[in-house]
Amino acid sequence: MARILVVEDEPDIAMLLADDLRLEGHQVEVVADGQAAAERGRESGWNLIVLDVMLPGKDGFDVCRELRKAGVRTPIILLTAKSHEAEKIMGLDLGADDYVTKPFNPRELRARIRAVLRRTEGDAAEIVRFGDVEVAPARAEVRVAGKLVEMTPMEFRLLLAFAKNPGHVLSRDRLIDLAWGRDTYITDRAVDAHIVNLRRKIDPRHIVSVRGMGYRFDE
Ligand code: CA
Repeated sequence: MARILVVEDEPDIAMLLADDLRLEGHQVEVVADGQAAAERGRESGWNLIVLDVMLPGKDGFDVCRELRKAGVRTPIILLTAKSHEAEKIMGLDLGADDYVTKPFNPRELRARIRAVLRRTEGDAAEIVRFGDVEVAPARAEVRVAGKLVEMTPMEFRLLLAFAKNPGHVLSRDRLIDLAWGRDTYITDRAVDAHIVNLRRKIDPRHIVSVRGMGYRFDE
């Protein structure tokens, strides 16, 4: 089972969450403020960080941004009280893997956690290669001609979704499913923007725009 860092400043919710996850068989540690989260989150060995957004000191968005900037690739699920779509997208753009809106249903949160863990474990076993590009999901690394290329988590998952489906035309909806999971709210325009960035980082001929349909990945 997984090692999970829970970041939550409300003791009742933190305890509920920790007990719930321990019952699922996970090993859980709780911290209650943003500063501690930013420090403990850097430690290796976490399989997941469940990160509340509204925290004393430093908020969850800042913690998330800081961890990703420091190269931490541990999956992060944000607990957000903000239901506005823009806030959720902001969280995902900062490198979070998913978000759950408070007040959350524990069963829904458990399902999201399982989905994120499954996704990262499933990815861990393989290395995908095409042309001079090598994608190592376990290390969340992309190399082009042997040289490490920096990717945002969004670009990374998009690239992986493409690389696993060479030669297929993928609609934007399909790409969102593959890269971020169903029920994720991401606009077509945001997908396009990530693809523009991705094309700058790898040979752009790999990602072919198919008018009116989506994108095709050519090896
Ligand atoms: Ca809070």
